Amino acid sequence: MKAIYPGSFDPITFGHLDIIKRASKIFSEVFVVVMENKRKKYTFSLEERIEMIKECTKDIANIKVDYFNGLLVDYLQKNKIDVIIRGLRAVTDFEYELQMAMANKEMCPHTDTVFLMTDKKYSFISSSLVKEVAYFGGDISRWVPKNVEKKLIQKLRE
Ligand code: ADP
Repeated sequence: MKAIYPGSFDPITFGHLDIIKRASKIFSEVFVVVMENKRKKYTFSLEERIEMIKECTKDIANIKVDYFNGLLVDYLQKNKIDVIIRGLRAVTDFEYELQMAMANKEMCPHTDTVFLMTDKKYSFISSSLVKEVAYFGGDISRWVPKNVEKKLIQKLRE
């Protein structure tokens, strides 16, 4: 069964990567889809976010990296995907995720959202936390893959 793991991935962290690896063992194919919302401001361009994900998932055979700017349910219908994967870190994630899952279910009744609990090692990691720490010169090597660390440091210099 195919599944989609959508997100901003601005940038991808070990938390995201852990969810991707676990999902790739459960589903036959996992579409990691970078969602582009013109009304949101991102640190990294769409191309940079895609490139970073490709680089750190290249050893996982059943992963496909893609992007979409539109409604998630349109992507699901176009690609005949019935499962949405999301990660849950803390109760603070729950309210938003429940709302999104319900909205998607109402728009596309044959889909289901599957939640994977974060690994406790990564439960506090978010893309924004990583960027904040990097901005002040802190060590982010525990939280993001090497290629992402390099790219973020380079970005902050620009
Ligand atoms: P979005 O803007 O769609 O929330 P994110 O890139 O912030 O995009 O997150 C994508 C998904 O990954 C969300 O379901 C989020 O809860 C999950 N996620 C983010 N960080 C972690 C983490 N450290 N552990 C587990 N799941 C995570």
